[in-house]
Amino acid sequence: MSKRDYYEVLGLQKNASEDEIKRAYRRLALKYHPDRNPQNSKEAEEKFKQICEAYEVLSDAQKRKTYDQFGHEGLRGAFHGAGGGFDWSDFTHFSDLQDIFGDFSDLFSGFGVDLGSFGFGGRSKHRPRRGASLRAEVEITLDEAAEGVEKVIKLPRRETCPVCKGEGAKPGTKKTTCPECQGAGQVRTMGGFFTISRTCARCGGEGSIVQTPCSNCRGTGRVQKERKIHVKIPAGVDTGLRLRISGEGEAGTRAAAPGDLYVDIYVKPHEIFQRHGNDLLCEVPVSFAQVALGAEIEVPTLNGKAKMRLPEGTQSGKIFRLRAKGMPDVHGYGRGDELVKVVVETPTGLNTKQKELLKQFAQSCGEDVNPLTSSFVQKLKKLFK
Ligand SMILES: [Zn+2]
Ligand SMILES: [Zn+2]
Repeated sequence: MSKRDYYEVLGLQKNASEDEIKRAYRRLALKYHPDRNPQNSKEAEEKFKQICEAYEVLSDAQKRKTYDQFGHEGLRGAFHGAGGGFDWSDFTHFSDLQDIFGDFSDLFSGFGVDLGSFGFGGRSKHRPRRGASLRAEVEITLDEAAEGVEKVIKLPRRETCPVCKGEGAKPGTKKTTCPECQGAGQVRTMGGFFTISRTCARCGGEGSIVQTPCSNCRGTGRVQKERKIHVKIPAGVDTGLRLRISGEGEAGTRAAAPGDLYVDIYVKPHEIFQRHGNDLLCEVPVSFAQVALGAEIEVPTLNGKAKMRLPEGTQSGKIFRLRAKGMPDVHGYGRGDELVKVVVETPTGLNTKQKELLKQFAQSCGEDVNPLTSSFVQKLKKLFK
């Protein structure tokens, strides 16, 4: 199925301003929220998702530029879902949705999205909440990216209190049932024809009260810890790649699952190699004599030097391709190539004898030795005849 154009999804022109994008998103998100379309909620959910996906891309200057230049194909690497499609873990604008819908405790319940994992506390307190996800950045060299590497990240995070096992009560003491709500976590008030239920203020919806708080975590059930996390970085990674390490985020409340850790990779620029996808480009200086006569030269590669044959008469700027000498593909699809661009250096600081030899050489050449020059002269003649 072909994907709809993001601008079309939001009903916008290609040159829409940031403000227009935001306004269109706001309007359509309100219109298509599945809860507001109970008659055709499946269809509304699909629309709502498309709107969020379009907004995710068009509200990000970098992603929008990529999309404008390369279309959906250009964004394949930007999303995590199967085949590079969007899924909710790619969505970074939950706070905008919170602005639009206000308290949206159950807004995403139907989508299988756990907002706890994004650090939002919209859900009622007496349910255990999954720990927040964390993000870390790792800087590696190109050589490390080529080989794969293991890095240690120092990560401050909240973990389940080992003393009270997350219960919040001092060991040996018991929690007592909240007298205000009799353990329900909710208090009901009768108001004429209807009943209003609200979260119990005394126990914060927990249904129970800690009599003697655990001294280690002051009754919160979680403590701050700095952990060293070992991260295996696969060979072939590039800047912008995000690794997900399941369960290494913050601890959940009341024995709920922990969040995940997302590690963003940054590959430092290399002195010699420039990276283009899986190919590596490098420039190698050579002398006039080497290119004129042909020579075997040594060129740098990721794993040491390699020999390369320069044919007689090689021009400056010529690019040679060394097959499979580039970066390994991160998904295991072989290796890129190394592209060697030879740059002829003009000799400087010649002595008198060398200058004399060069003059003799030039005189012996006449006009037709240099193929680039002769074709240039032909072009000039054409231009000015
Ligand atoms: Zn504790
Ligand atoms: Zn209570």
